[in-house]
Amino acid sequence: MRIGYGWDSHEFKSGVPLKIGGIELPYDKGLSGHSDGDVLLHALTDALLGAVAAGDIGGYFPPSDPKWKGADSVIFLQEALKQVHRAGYTVGNVDSTLILAEPKIGPHAATIQKRVAGLLGIKPNQVGVKAKTPEGMGTDNAAIAHVAVLLVVAPKARRKPAPRKARKR
Ligand code: MG
Repeated sequence: MRIGYGWDSHEFKSGVPLKIGGIELPYDKGLSGHSDGDVLLHALTDALLGAVAAGDIGGYFPPSDPKWKGADSVIFLQEALKQVHRAGYTVGNVDSTLILAEPKIGPHAATIQKRVAGLLGIKPNQVGVKAKTPEGMGTDNAAIAHVAVLLVVAPKARRKPAPRKARKR
């Protein structure tokens, strides 16, 4: 087993869609960032990479590279998942906490859960999605995400039995 942890934060900005957990939420502001600003997928990407000690999101997708401008963060997650599989692991479960003043995540939590599970190839009951407000911490204009993952050793692919050699007489 391996454990991984990731954290991310992005500031709210007008005029961009709000992407959290790979879905677009109805809100008048989105998250600023070089990519689509999906704070949850970024924290998840880092948690997966961290679990297999494979670096961090910035190492694979440097914000200085114009190639990733406005990029769909699903691409980042898929790379991290590839590293997890390459290391011989599969995702056991994920737990996450979002911290943001607005919008309310509760009504969308099940959709986010399903989407994240789909992206990871696991079941929704293997993905925890929790949310809370900053409660006067001064981060009302930002969204923060914390993610923990547990990886388990991937079951070995069933090998076909080797054909029996004809016995020499
Ligand atoms: Mg980020």
